[in-house]
Amino acid sequence: MRIDILCLFPEMFVSPFSHSIVKRAEGKGLVEVVTHNIRDFTHDRHATVDDYPYGGGAGMVLKPEPVFEGVEHVRRVTGTADSPVVLLSPRGRLFTQGVASELAGHAHLILLCGHYEGVDERVSEHLATDELSIGDYVLTGGELAAMVVVDAMVRLLPGVLGSDESAGEESHAGGLLEYPQYTRPEEYRGWRVPPVLLSGHHAEISAWRRRQSILKTAARRPDLLSR
Ligand code: SAM
Repeated sequence: MRIDILCLFPEMFVSPFSHSIVKRAEGKGLVEVVTHNIRDFTHDRHATVDDYPYGGGAGMVLKPEPVFEGVEHVRRVTGTADSPVVLLSPRGRLFTQGVASELAGHAHLILLCGHYEGVDERVSEHLATDELSIGDYVLTGGELAAMVVVDAMVRLLPGVLGSDESAGEESHAGGLLEYPQYTRPEEYRGWRVPPVLLSGHHAEISAWRRRQSILKTAARRPDLLSR
């Protein structure tokens, strides 16, 4: 899978993508993440990417020209004509585990990160094929949101997680939160690991975990259960 990210601060991605799962996935050749600076697609000597909003109001708006030209550049370089173009936006549909696995099925994705007061609406109307929000709050820019989307998606690509790190049993994979996990020591400050986990009885462990998943979900996220 290849992911192209257009943004104003590509350097923000260096550290998060140089460690752990995304780095491992890149090392195995399972994903390639390429960042582009939207400023590189401007033509004036000040490399202007923003301008005042028509109609007045606070803040600046990301201009459409460098965003459209950036996507056209990516299309030329990758030879792709119809891969999804995802605009990160607080107005987008909510990013969930289900959306992560849907996106992980594409061979190529283009992510657009806004900044300032937002992005000229023509990007949303005529360039983006999807808009995603990572939650009901407003970030300063789309870079952090893109990192969240890439991380959640990449760990779902076949071969990225080892067989002992299956994503299939994690929170949200089956609509429930994950059951409690324990490791050694068997007793810590008087708190003991539930005896069933030490029993070696796989069917009982599995039934206990399922029940715990349902109880945790009911206590913390009843909205998930009703869905
Ligand atoms: N004025 C905009 C509004 O009220 O909808 C918010 C703009 S925000 C300061 C700048 C950029 O950050 C957005 O264009 C978007 O790319 C990104 N962003 C902010 N919050 C986000 C969220 N919850 N999910 C995804 N992207 C977000």
